[in-house]
Amino acid sequence: MAGYDFDIGILGGGSAGLTVASGAAQLGAKTLLVEKEKVLGGDCLHYGCVPSKTLIQTAHVYHLMKNAKEFGLPPVEVKPVDFREVVHRLQEVIQVIQKHDSEERFCKLGAKVELGEPAFIDEHAIRLHGKTFSAKNWVIATGSSPAIPPVAGLDHTPHVTNKHIFSFEKLPPSMVILGAGPVATEMAQAFSRLGTKVSVVQRSGQILSNEDKDMADELMGILQKEGVRFYLHTSIVGARDLGSEREVVVKTKEGEAISLKAETILVALGREANLGGLNLEGIGIPYDAKGLKLDSRLRTSHKHIYGAGDVTGAFQFTHAAGYEGTIVVSNAIFHLPRKVDYTFFPWCTYSHPELASIGMNEKRAKAAGLEYVIWEEKFKDNDRSLAEGEKNGKIKMLLDKKGKPLGVQILGPRAGDLVSEWVAAFHGKVKPTTLASAVHPYPTLGEINKKVAGSYLSSKIFSETIKKGLSFFFHLRGRACGPEWEEGASAEKKE
Ligand SMILES: Cc1cc2nc3c(=O)[nH]c(=O)nc-3n(C[C@H](O)[C@H](O)[C@H](O)COP(=O)(O)OP(=O)(O)OC[C@H]3O[C@@H](n4cnc5c(N)ncnc54)[C@H](O)[C@@H]3O)c2cc1C
Repeated sequence: MAGYDFDIGILGGGSAGLTVASGAAQLGAKTLLVEKEKVLGGDCLHYGCVPSKTLIQTAHVYHLMKNAKEFGLPPVEVKPVDFREVVHRLQEVIQVIQKHDSEERFCKLGAKVELGEPAFIDEHAIRLHGKTFSAKNWVIATGSSPAIPPVAGLDHTPHVTNKHIFSFEKLPPSMVILGAGPVATEMAQAFSRLGTKVSVVQRSGQILSNEDKDMADELMGILQKEGVRFYLHTSIVGARDLGSEREVVVKTKEGEAISLKAETILVALGREANLGGLNLEGIGIPYDAKGLKLDSRLRTSHKHIYGAGDVTGAFQFTHAAGYEGTIVVSNAIFHLPRKVDYTFFPWCTYSHPELASIGMNEKRAKAAGLEYVIWEEKFKDNDRSLAEGEKNGKIKMLLDKKGKPLGVQILGPRAGDLVSEWVAAFHGKVKPTTLASAVHPYPTLGEINKKVAGSYLSSKIFSETIKKGLSFFFHLRGRACGPEWEEGASAEKKE
């Protein structure tokens, strides 16, 4: 575009920024991507999804080794974990993916990458290491950082966040985790399985407070059996450094003070948008700690400046960042007015078992004033699940009064993959009856999706009214076995 150096400029080379940069550049837009760090990839690649899921798998394998007997195998004597080896594996995985997110790859796609810390000088231009870069459109995709709340003494007490845990030199013998959201829950289980004594402190009465309590409580019970200690309804009073270990003092809702001592304090109390230093105040873009103020097309108060990813303050997931990136490309490059729609937005906590969600759960349905009915199936009734030694968890489907699906929650093995069938079903407006009548391979975990959809259908098909109708029209003669067939029952019925 004449007058500007670039058609589109993107601040932040993480999940959201890379999606916009690759889409815009491949569509022929002259694209600038500015990243503060020395490498692209953002939190997900370096301190988030990738190392955490890699660590979770390592911890799972170790857990299986320790529990080999449960699978009919000889008991395995496992050695303590050498965390440097674990970190080595995490870094190897990151390095492989890093190639995909390299400057060279983005240059090949047509995007110019600049490294440094930019600031807006007006609503079309930024200043970056002494140079000015202007663009017709801008995208703010600078992500988020762990929020550190004002806990008394915490600033003088060594503590870590997700930025540190994937490069520890040794496995911490003990850890107090502040918060019980997805990051806290996943890391509590992973470190506990690797041999750390883990305590989790949570202000509310359940872990994973966005999820339904029955699902979260079942998961917490599983983690408790594995040795994680939970302190619910507990507020943090203060923290201090005792030299060889740290102390966190917490208060229960009954007012009892408890001292928790551990070598490591992991702070996982939510996220804050990375919006400082960009001079957004100077160009009149409002924001707060949660994120930018955006309209449904992800535009700020300046219609040519967009926000995507964690800075939206909406769903802080990589797939949300990717989705929002595509909305921005549609609006800024195609000029197709596209709005974000999170109605059937899925997510998953990658604990073991996983807890996945799409659409309405009970909490959200109640908050929206919707009436609903629930259908559930347990994983202990799924043959594949039993074969794999997975006896915990369930699927829970919410339907409205007319039988229209509102949402599905799954606590079970590979729930994050299982929920994908519901992603297709919800987006394709597939009825539960269609899902129930579609053949699924046996034995698979996926059969639980068919079964829960079928349980709704069965309640209709096998109702007394239908049975009476069939008996009348087709002279069906009813049960051939049951209490009425026992000694002393009327001969008429036995005919
Ligand atoms: C431990 C952990 C595990 C997670 N696991 C999952 C998971 O399993 N699945 C999932 O979907 N999500 C997961 N997430 C969330 C996911 O990582 C984020 O939602 C995602 O990275 C957000 O993408 P983004 O582009 O908004 O931010 P980021 O990916 O963080 O990218 C922002 C980029 O902007 C750069 N930047 C910051 N400030 C500036 C500036 N002033 N100028 C230029 N550049 C700047 C940063 O350096 C960074 O590269 C996890 C998060 C954590 C912490």
